[in-house]
Amino acid sequence: MKKVIPDKKFKCLVCKNANYDILDLAVSETGYKILQCKNCNLRQLFKENLYNTKNYYENDTQDSLSFKYTNITKIEQINHRHCETKNRAKIIQNIISNKKDEIHIIDVGGGYGNLLNEIKKLNIKMDLLEPRKLKDIFYTKNNINLINSFFNEKFVENNKNKYDIVICCHTLEHLKNPVEFLKNIKQIMKKKSHLFLEVPNDDLDLIKICKKYSKNVNYIEPHLSYFTPETLKYTLNKAGLLNTTIKGFQIYGYQNYKDIKDNGFKIKKNVKDIDLFKNNYKKNSKEEKWYNDRIQNLTCDTIYIIYSN
Ligand SMILES: [Zn+2]
Repeated sequence: MKKVIPDKKFKCLVCKNANYDILDLAVSETGYKILQCKNCNLRQLFKENLYNTKNYYENDTQDSLSFKYTNITKIEQINHRHCETKNRAKIIQNIISNKKDEIHIIDVGGGYGNLLNEIKKLNIKMDLLEPRKLKDIFYTKNNINLINSFFNEKFVENNKNKYDIVICCHTLEHLKNPVEFLKNIKQIMKKKSHLFLEVPNDDLDLIKICKKYSKNVNYIEPHLSYFTPETLKYTLNKAGLLNTTIKGFQIYGYQNYKDIKDNGFKIKKNVKDIDLFKNNYKKNSKEEKWYNDRIQNLTCDTIYIIYSN
């Protein structure tokens, strides 16, 4: 009699196709592979026994990983990354500026609440949805309402047609079912509301330029999907979010880019030594061109959409 082998084969997270190419992009010791779907081209992290995502987020494993290599405190890291939060807040404040009445915003997977804190204003009700039981939520003052939960069916059911602005930064790439997630995001949006969604960009030029950087930094747990402008658009379309324009956003600065490009990848001992992109200072013409080119060609480190319904 033939043995029945349980089906543990690859299934694309977005289009459910089973055919793939294996890309030489993962660090082999981790046991992970990076597979590219032959149908929709999405690159994704694959292992037969994937880590338990529920435990992973409930136990705050992500922070333990981030702080493994450094003795910097959380508050120091958040302060260091404040320029990134400010750049992002500017985009959202632009959307809000067209709204006259009181508005209700939610940040889905909003972490410590630093983005909501940055865009706070009178006349805005703010919900922070975060599944991790973070010991220090620094920014829940200023009337930010913390909901310590996953974005699950119960939450969607209780909050249909509720929000004027939905923010979702660096969350989609962590999920096992991104299409279902986006369909649910649509459900909590009011009529004439907006979604700001941001993910890392897998068309980032550094991935091709520096293999060491690519393997050690880019293709690692807990990111399950690696979106390019093309595959992000495909995923959004699958969920019924049509007519979106993909735009570019830069988190890391010119000096960081040059360090990796010219010297190969070396992990900085102190996170504070990593150069981040700042909008609010005068740049030389080289840096200005570097920034404009990558935003225009979408080879920058991050991509985002604003979807309006
Ligand atoms: Zn696919």
